[in-house]
Amino acid sequence: MSLISDVAAPLIEADSASLKHADAVIQSIGLPSSGIAVQDPATGETIAHVPDADVEAALEAVATADKAGTAWAKSSLRQRADVLHAWYAKLVEHTEDLAHLISREMGKPLAEARGEVKYGTDFVRWYAEEAVRPAGNFRETPDGGASLLTRRSPVGLAVLITPWNFPLAMATRKIAPALAAGCPVVIKPATLTPLTTYFAVQLAIEAGVPEELIQVITTSKSGAFSEAVLLDPRVRKVSFTGSTPVGRQLLKLASQNVLRSSMELGGNAPLIVFNDADLQRAVDGTFAAKLRNGGQSCIGANRIYVQDEIADDFVAALTERFAQVAVGSGLAQQTGLGALIDNRAVAQMQAYTQNAVALGATLLTGGHGYDSAGNFFAPTVLDRVTEDSDVAQSEIFGPIAAIQRFSSEAEVIDRANATEFGLAGYVFTENLDRALNVADSLQTGIIGINQGVPSNAAAPFGGVKQSGLGREGSAEGLEEYENIRFYNVARRATA
Ligand code: NAD
Repeated sequence: MSLISDVAAPLIEADSASLKHADAVIQSIGLPSSGIAVQDPATGETIAHVPDADVEAALEAVATADKAGTAWAKSSLRQRADVLHAWYAKLVEHTEDLAHLISREMGKPLAEARGEVKYGTDFVRWYAEEAVRPAGNFRETPDGGASLLTRRSPVGLAVLITPWNFPLAMATRKIAPALAAGCPVVIKPATLTPLTTYFAVQLAIEAGVPEELIQVITTSKSGAFSEAVLLDPRVRKVSFTGSTPVGRQLLKLASQNVLRSSMELGGNAPLIVFNDADLQRAVDGTFAAKLRNGGQSCIGANRIYVQDEIADDFVAALTERFAQVAVGSGLAQQTGLGALIDNRAVAQMQAYTQNAVALGATLLTGGHGYDSAGNFFAPTVLDRVTEDSDVAQSEIFGPIAAIQRFSSEAEVIDRANATEFGLAGYVFTENLDRALNVADSLQTGIIGINQGVPSNAAAPFGGVKQSGLGREGSAEGLEEYENIRFYNVARRATA
């Protein structure tokens, strides 16, 4: 079908200086010469190897972190804050190194990688500040017979499992609150993008984090890893970001030792544009909510619902924006859309497009891959997508804007909520009452109102329904790593 076959359109090539910069950072990490191969998704080239740990090595990491955790749990809040501030400063100092590394191993454009560094480092600064906030409080029982002291203590050794789409931010969003709360960690980054975690942890150690406290484990046997590690009695916490099916498996394992569990899982975000939206704001917001990270974001706009009267103008403007995006290596300043993570993702985008068109959608731009060794797919707009098509039912995780039309508020709320997921939702309207009422009715943990990028280190990020448990970022993100306890102090009646 010519509609979606690969085209030989020119792709933007990497700047050689940027490539050199990225490779110099990789050289500085001190990695083995064999193990799991890490590839550049823009070229298919192997850029490094990381250790392929077996279960024994993973349990050794647990033992090492556990030992280091005893002293860390007793460290003062100020000590933890100081170390996190120093790590933050190091990360900021190495912004360009991190951005080049992220772009090289994950494919996103440099400008977006810089944005991720800002977002990812913000968590370290936030938890450096949060670490010294009151770790307990004082209350009276209503009958006056006792005083209650609530105390917070570290939950214990935390196992952190992160995905490939935000290699720095997903790691710092977990490591920083864990350290602030007084917990040691074993972190297992995705094998597709492990280099950023190694580099960021190296910077943490240079900044003064005790070397044994953060253990990085990379393995091709993730099932065996979680089965061994989550059943180890020294482990008290698991925090996972990834797909819902893997989250379910990990929750099952975590139930064995009743581990504290945080699960940041998949999404299927509705984005709703009402007739009374500001068209330009809606197009800008949708563009960001959809194309940021090449659409490979758990909060990416998945089902775009546009009200009948504004729909033609909105679709025309969004299509024009998508058609202008420059596709190519992330390591080039002009690139607007980089490579997808692997060739399975490209094949999936082709299948989604084919399925949507077969079920009646109109392809307005894109819809094809490229004749290239890299994993590229064009920015794509599909209009009049049907609710039964795969793009509406599944998490797209790629650069396809799948547009549906609606007529009434009540109808769109029902359609938006008809999913097992509940991570993010978006509302575009200039009517404040409508914005808040619709936001209240959407079954999601996160709502963007007239904007497409709602995440912030100060916000309690997380989902409802099958999008997860727990929150990351904000004060709530720290509580995920704390046990709350209370002392009931009996009071003698005073004369
Ligand atoms: P994934 O579930 O395939 O993998 C995530 C991580 O889990 C990787 O490190 C992987 O190696 C590891 N893993 C896989 N099976 C495992 C097992 N049995 N035991 C231990 N670890 C295991 O997800 P992905 O493809 O890397 O990421 C995409 C998914 O992540 C999407 O569904 C996306 O929505 C979700 N995501 C969610 C958030 C959020 O905050 N809610 C953020 C980013 C991504």
